[in-house]
Amino acid sequence: MPLFGKLKYTIVRVKKKDIPDGLWTKCESCNQPVYHKKLKENMEVCPNCDFHFTLGAKDRIQLVADKNSFKEFDADLSPVDPLGFLGPKSYKDKLKKDQKETGLKDAAITGSATIDGKNIMLAVTDSRFIMGSMGSVVGEKITRAIESATKNKLPLIIISGSGGGARMYEGMFSLMQMAKTSAALAKHHDAGLLYISVLTNPTMAGVMASFAGLGDVIIAEPKALIGFTGPRVIEQTIKQRLPAGFQRSEFLLEHGLIDMIVHRKNLKETFSKLLDYFS
Ligand SMILES: [Zn+2]
Repeated sequence: MPLFGKLKYTIVRVKKKDIPDGLWTKCESCNQPVYHKKLKENMEVCPNCDFHFTLGAKDRIQLVADKNSFKEFDADLSPVDPLGFLGPKSYKDKLKKDQKETGLKDAAITGSATIDGKNIMLAVTDSRFIMGSMGSVVGEKITRAIESATKNKLPLIIISGSGGGARMYEGMFSLMQMAKTSAALAKHHDAGLLYISVLTNPTMAGVMASFAGLGDVIIAEPKALIGFTGPRVIEQTIKQRLPAGFQRSEFLLEHGLIDMIVHRKNLKETFSKLLDYFS
């Protein structure tokens, strides 16, 4: 007689259509599954650990600007392919794909807006578009927004979601945007005007080494990856293990690189207070 009696199996066939695709996302910080609807209701912030997921540029503008106050500049500026760049995918194909998926012409949206009735100039980069990298169009739009802020004596807020840094598909045309945006910011600074830079996950490389790192006040979202070179490359170069939390907002605040960490839900209120304080 078998020790456990006769084993009975019930085979349940789960049909693929019973598990709808894309309803859950795994949080990259706490590794817990998060229900999409819950994430949307929570401003794309993980309800378990407060990790701030990527947010599109239009959603970010909605989150911080007064309702219907945003007036977009240079909406028609479109990227070109100055080098005729060919990789596994051509630059032209990559642009077409991301334009279709995001509804954007390139990775930045710029314009004027009000926050609690106070006039500001606002620029936002979108990490869904070629990792929010800075090509000629992103650099030009941001520079024009800075120059317009200087001319109109307005405070400037730039929210960066640029893991890609400079856009290598445009070579030198991309790298020179670092100098261009920085030079425009220097004039804004010389005019005694306020610039608030917000760093979101991720803000890296050529963007962090230019306009994103130059704020009079630098704010980061919680747990955002912020730096120049990624941690893996640094570890390989210096042949040492990096401390826990290296290049995350909390580590950078502790070491004085940023001024404050602000939860997405408090961002508008923080802007409003800073605008009052520095005006
Ligand atoms: Zn989480």
